[in-house]
Amino acid sequence: MADQRNALADADTRQRTADTGLRERAAAVIPGGMYGHQSAVPLPAQYPQFMREGRGARVWDVDGNSYVDLMCSYGPVVLGHQHPRVEQAARAQAALADCQNGPGAVMVDLAELLVSTVRHADWAMFAKNGTDATTACCTIARAQTGRAKILAARGAYHGAAPWCTPRPAGTTAADRANLGYYEFNDIASVRAAAEQAGEDLAAILVSPFKHDAGFDQELVDAAFARELRALCDASGAALILDDVRCGFRLHLGGSWEPIGVDPDLSAWSKAIANGHALAAVLGNDAFRSGAQSVFVTGSFWFSAVPMAAAIATIGALRDEAAIEAMERAGNALRDGIARQAAEWDLAINYTGPVQMPYLTFAGDTGYELGNLFAAEAVRCGAYIHPRHNWFVSAAMTDDDLDQVLAATGEAFAAVRRHLGNR
Ligand code: PMP
Repeated sequence: MADQRNALADADTRQRTADTGLRERAAAVIPGGMYGHQSAVPLPAQYPQFMREGRGARVWDVDGNSYVDLMCSYGPVVLGHQHPRVEQAARAQAALADCQNGPGAVMVDLAELLVSTVRHADWAMFAKNGTDATTACCTIARAQTGRAKILAARGAYHGAAPWCTPRPAGTTAADRANLGYYEFNDIASVRAAAEQAGEDLAAILVSPFKHDAGFDQELVDAAFARELRALCDASGAALILDDVRCGFRLHLGGSWEPIGVDPDLSAWSKAIANGHALAAVLGNDAFRSGAQSVFVTGSFWFSAVPMAAAIATIGALRDEAAIEAMERAGNALRDGIARQAAEWDLAINYTGPVQMPYLTFAGDTGYELGNLFAAEAVRCGAYIHPRHNWFVSAAMTDDDLDQVLAATGEAFAAVRRHLGNR
C-alpha cells in the first residue's frame, strides 16, 4: 500500500529528462528515432521510450520512474523480471560459454524437455525470434508437402518478414503471392480459401485465439479448431499453430491442448526463456523429413545461454504453478477493473484470457478514450497498452495489483471527467 501511495503521489512529479535526451540523440542516429511497434503507432506522450531495469512485476524507466509491468516486454517475461532460477541457470551457462562452434548439450536437453512437455511435439528446432519460427514453419510445411499456398487469418500478426509484415513498405506483391486469407473462427471462409488454393495447399496458419492489435480479442471456437484439423487431415496440408504470443501463458502443453486439437507444427518464442532470446519450432513425425530438408540457421541460433534459461523457465513454470498464478492475478485484475468501470458508469469491453486481457471503451473506434485511459494509468504507475493485449506475469503480488487498480481507478476518473466535459 505504501508503494501504491508513493506511485500516485509521484505521478505529477515524474521526470522525463533522461528519456527526452535519449530520444533526441536517437533521432540523429536511428531512423525515426525508433522502429517497430512503437514507431508504427506511437504511444501517448506519457510513455517513456527507454527502460532501465526490471525486477519481478516492477520496471523502471531511464529516469527512475517505476511501474507495475502489465506488458512484460510484449510477452517474453512470464515469471517476472530477473527470475532467480532462470538468471542463475543463464549465468552458470555463460560462465562456460554461450556462442560456440557447435551447440551445447543444453540443446538436446531442451529439445527433450519440449518434446515431453508439448503434446503434439516429436521434435524441436531453435531460432531467435517469433518471425524466425513462423517463417520456418511455413518453409517446412512447403518442403514436406511440395506445395506453395499458406492460408492465414486476415489481420493476424505472424511477424515482421516481408511475407507477413502488416506494413507493406519495401515488400513486393510476390512476397505474398502464395498466401490466402480467411476470417478467424469462420470455417466457411477457410473452406473458400482452401478451395482457391486447391491441390497447392501447403498449410493453414492460425493463432490460438484472435489477438489482433487494436481489436477486442476473440477466443477460439473449439469446433472451428477441430474443423481446421479435419481440413488439414483431408488435404495433407500442415496445421501450424502460432503460439509465439500465448505459448506457456495458457497451457504448458501448447495453447490448444485444452481443446484437444494438435497442430502439426507450432511456432514459439517470447516467454519460453523468460526474456532470453530464443524461438522454437516444434513438429510431429509427419513433418520431420521436411524439417530435416530445409536450410534454416543463424549466427546466434545455437547460443547455449538462452537454452539453459529456457530449461530453467519451464522448470519454474511447472514447480511454481505459474499459469495458475497468472490466472489468479488475471481474475483479480479483471474483477477490479469491471468494478471500477461500473462505478464510473463507463461501458468497456474486457476481452481475451485473463492472463492476456485487452480493454477498450464501447464505441471508441478512434482510441480517444483508450489512449487517455492508458496515458493516465501509465502516469500513475501501471504500464498497460492502449492497442495491444496486456500480459499478466506470474510475479504479480497483491501489492502490485493494488497499485495497478489505484492507477486504473485514476484512469477511469480521467475518462469520466473527459466525457463529462463534452
Ligand atoms: N507471432 C505472434 C502471434 C506474435 O505475437 C509475434 C510478436 N508479437 C510474432 C509472431 C513475431 O515474433 P517476433 O517479434 O519475436 O519476431
